[in-house]
Amino acid sequence: MKLQILWDCLELVFPKSCPCCKNVSLRNEPLVCLKCQSSMVKQRKSNHLHLNDKTYNVVSAYKFYRKGKTQKLIHEFKYNNRIEIGEFFAEKMAPHLQNIKDSKYIIPVPIHWKKERLRGYNQSYVLGKKIAELNGLQLLENVLYRKSDNKSQTKKSRYHRFSKIDGAFGLKETSMLENEHLILVDDIVTTGATVGACIRQLEKIQNIRITIVCIAN
Ligand SMILES: [Zn+2]
Repeated sequence: MKLQILWDCLELVFPKSCPCCKNVSLRNEPLVCLKCQSSMVKQRKSNHLHLNDKTYNVVSAYKFYRKGKTQKLIHEFKYNNRIEIGEFFAEKMAPHLQNIKDSKYIIPVPIHWKKERLRGYNQSYVLGKKIAELNGLQLLENVLYRKSDNKSQTKKSRYHRFSKIDGAFGLKETSMLENEHLILVDDIVTTGATVGACIRQLEKIQNIRITIVCIAN
């Protein structure tokens, strides 16, 4: 009871706000307010990524629009130390994977260790960890690693992105993964350059199948 009073006082002094519209949240309102959530466009079907004569399913929770609310929240999650936004997104992503029954493993797209030290976390790891928890998967963070620390890809041309990022990843532990169906998790998939470079590494494992999951695409 005393703790509840203290909590109520703290809420009065430091009211919680929606990380998207910044409006003060009502009591028991979710992290992202319902008004913002209702204007984020949900993804109704899975998309495909074509790579080296193969097609991969891309499963996501939202459609990606530049300068949309989803992008704004992803930015807050990645650059403003808001891990709870990542967990909010993971809760929206997890149900989209529930019809995949033959997968045990989820692998986050790695970022370079220098970037991870600077940011404090890898955003794909945060998403993967929560999805693994919700869907009973095992998170494997030592399969892929990032070799080079490319500058942000977002403002570069499609050709430049593909040519620069190919070869940016390496493969480590793979012995247990032959014949498995892997879930590869990233925050946003637009051109597919980053996940494509990861897939080229994972395809070195014998008889592997891969599904991509992301917040938005
Ligand atoms: Zn809001």
